Amino acid sequence: MAFDPSSLRPLFPILSLQAHDHPLTYLDNAATTQKPLLVLDAIQDYYRNANANVHRGAHFLSDRATNRFEQARDTVARFINAPAQSHVIWTKGATEAINMVAFGLEHLLEEGDEILITSLEHHANLVPWQQLAFRTGARLRILPLTSKGEWEPEFSHYFTDRTRIFAATQISNAIGTSTPLQIMLDNAKQQGAFTLVDGAQAVAHYSIDVQTLNCDFYVFSGHKMYGPTGIGALYGKNHALDILLPYQTGGEMVRHVSYQATEFNVLPYRLEAGTPNIEGAIGLAAACDFLNIQDRPALLAWEQSLAAHVYSRLHKEGGIDIYSPEKNTTLVSLSVPNIHILDLNAYLDSQGIGVRAGSHCAHPLMAQLGVAGTLRASFACYNTLEEANRFCDVLLDAIDILG
Ligand code: PLP
Repeated sequence: MAFDPSSLRPLFPILSLQAHDHPLTYLDNAATTQKPLLVLDAIQDYYRNANANVHRGAHFLSDRATNRFEQARDTVARFINAPAQSHVIWTKGATEAINMVAFGLEHLLEEGDEILITSLEHHANLVPWQQLAFRTGARLRILPLTSKGEWEPEFSHYFTDRTRIFAATQISNAIGTSTPLQIMLDNAKQQGAFTLVDGAQAVAHYSIDVQTLNCDFYVFSGHKMYGPTGIGALYGKNHALDILLPYQTGGEMVRHVSYQATEFNVLPYRLEAGTPNIEGAIGLAAACDFLNIQDRPALLAWEQSLAAHVYSRLHKEGGIDIYSPEKNTTLVSLSVPNIHILDLNAYLDSQGIGVRAGSHCAHPLMAQLGVAGTLRASFACYNTLEEANRFCDVLLDAIDILG
């Protein structure tokens, strides 16, 4: 029997809102997901019953806050199958985690070294590497993938003995294409490069096993997987985290400080300067709990079936350029010749439908596709077939009116 999202919807109070006098249809999940009660309650309960600073105090509330905070790290570690909680560094999100690695590895790079990324990257997994290349004299190289995520022939020559870092997204946020990650990671490893996987778009949909992926670093954001904003994680293998220089310094991450020198703490604390986002970590762990009790393959199949349904309906209509794959994706990215995507977006919004129109923080990819931007409908576990159909109906109305 097909998965039925109606049992999940009451867990997300925001979904019952009206938007511009229409039932809210939230299809901007690749930007951020809505939060279930489990997450909202965990955050509120932390402030009601456990709020204190962590690690430093020796009193009832401080112990309680520290326990919940470290339990959250453990939950996140188990969620991605990290071997131990010390492999998980809290960050503000995927962007901060990538910056942490880019700054942390800077001391290893020399002029002429190569940093390799793919042509499907979000700016978060491009600009930090570009700037690192500027600072060190390294060369930023782009592994061209087609919009279907396929290799160009003879791709392996992009991995050279100068490749020091290879960073790739698991799934394109802009067009929903998955990258052939494992083979890319194997190629990078053969050249002895550090590998980073940007899992920002994957964690909400796929069970992640960082040990099977065998990457050095894995990054993601809580808010894209039903958790709060302002929290995310950097996973790293021991040797990879050990080699990172802290890109921020201050309190919390030190063992002893004198005017002459600082002795840094052990991992994971060594890379976490200042008071952390305690409620964010607790909220993110609650989001992991939420996903852990779901039938995740069924959720993924449902989300993919909604995207495939929209694809096939709009494809049949003709006159719409669709950039997403036909199958195995949870979003549909499109444009309509001669109608501005912002006009389509405004019409959809007037009918209560929230999508994203723009370049999706992927200017080079948009240039490769030959468009300034696309209109993207992205699905989460709580979206219904009615919502998918409503999106198609209203989009087609908009095309009639605006075309
Ligand atoms: N990487 C990808 C693929 C994304 O989709 C995003 C956000 O859209 C990011 C990185 C950056 O995530 P954040 O803004 O939460 O740091």
